[in-house]
Amino acid sequence: GHMTNLSNRVLNMEESVTLAASARAKALKAEGRDISSLTLGEPDFVTPKNIQDAAIEAIQNGKASFYTVASGLPELKDAINSYMEKFYGYSINRNQVVVATGAKFILYTFFTTVLNPGDEVIIPTPCWVSYVDQVKMVDGVPVTVATTESNHFKATVEQLEAARTEKTKVLLLNSPSNPTGMIYTRDELEAIGNWAVEHNILILADDIYGRLVYNGNEFTPISSISEAIRKQTVVVNGVSKTYAMTGWRVGFAVAEEEIISGMAKVISQTTSNLTAVSQYAAIEALTGPQDSIETMRQAFEERLNTIYPLLNEVPGFEVIKPQGAFYLFPNVKKAMEMKGYADVTAFTTAILEEVGVALVTGAGFGAPENVRLSYATDLDTLKDAVNRLKAFMEK
Ligand code: PMP
Ligand code: GLU
Repeated sequence: GHMTNLSNRVLNMEESVTLAASARAKALKAEGRDISSLTLGEPDFVTPKNIQDAAIEAIQNGKASFYTVASGLPELKDAINSYMEKFYGYSINRNQVVVATGAKFILYTFFTTVLNPGDEVIIPTPCWVSYVDQVKMVDGVPVTVATTESNHFKATVEQLEAARTEKTKVLLLNSPSNPTGMIYTRDELEAIGNWAVEHNILILADDIYGRLVYNGNEFTPISSISEAIRKQTVVVNGVSKTYAMTGWRVGFAVAEEEIISGMAKVISQTTSNLTAVSQYAAIEALTGPQDSIETMRQAFEERLNTIYPLLNEVPGFEVIKPQGAFYLFPNVKKAMEMKGYADVTAFTTAILEEVGVALVTGAGFGAPENVRLSYATDLDTLKDAVNRLKAFMEK
């Protein structure tokens, strides 16, 4: 008989550390423990009322009862086109966009669509936890490029060139970044984009935090820089973060027709289509009133500006101020030394056990000296959590 029923594919992958950390915090809370959870990158706001109402209306008038076209409702594609015109400065046709079950499944669909076994994807680290495992799940090869704090966690063309081989198919760029919150400048993106064009490497631009930028920082979409770069780029975006719609699972990709039709084929044979009611909700999100979005962005900005200086006062914690997204990513090398830990996951676990603050270990992001705090939670919880971190370090 077999030793295990599991495939090598599943045996070789990790569970998402962000979702695992959040589940652990929820389970401890359910046991009655006093836990401050800064694990999940998910707005604490509920979906704005106009979007809720559009969804209810779609259900009640029967529109949400049916399958949609696999690649998404034409009206939603048109709404995404308006969004592209407004925030990217170019238009697309309906064959250049596909919607799916969250940006996460869009990413998986993309990798399935373009990677042959052995094809390499260059991924600057620290990076979001799901990229590496998704590439492995479709037999691609993740090639990580370690960025440094001194370069604000941004990869340079020189580093990318050093990682390039004949097998390099995709460069993954996530700006603003989860977990670092850093944003590439227009000049940096232009240099990277031209390098990708020169070597015929696809750019996967995960722009999901593009609207969540603070303190005057600006997000430039790499696909907006030139037509040559745009043709080489697959934009990944969604409504989860900007519109407080994580539970609706709406993501989209914008690219040249060949890749989009390939992705639509994968969707037609897997989920069939993004849940119809979520598509109607997304139309309202993208085309309806936008004032609640700015209110939420300002709340994140206020939290960042309040909590950032306090976190930097925690002994052994050193943080660069993030420009976007909703994460702080302190280097805790000194803190670990002070407390006698060599491993950041063990350090994170000790913090959870001793003072009830749930963080995400940097290990899952390819950053063994860092921990991640999400500030997508209310200020009282954030201040309380930082006080507990201080207490942990001063014990
Ligand atoms: N990309 C990044 C960088 C993320 O942090 C997330 C987190 N959810 C996603 C993609 C996926 O977003 P969703 O599936 O909720 O649209
Ligand atoms: N992207 C969010 C995070 O990093 C949500 C959880 C996940 O999908 O990883 O926390």
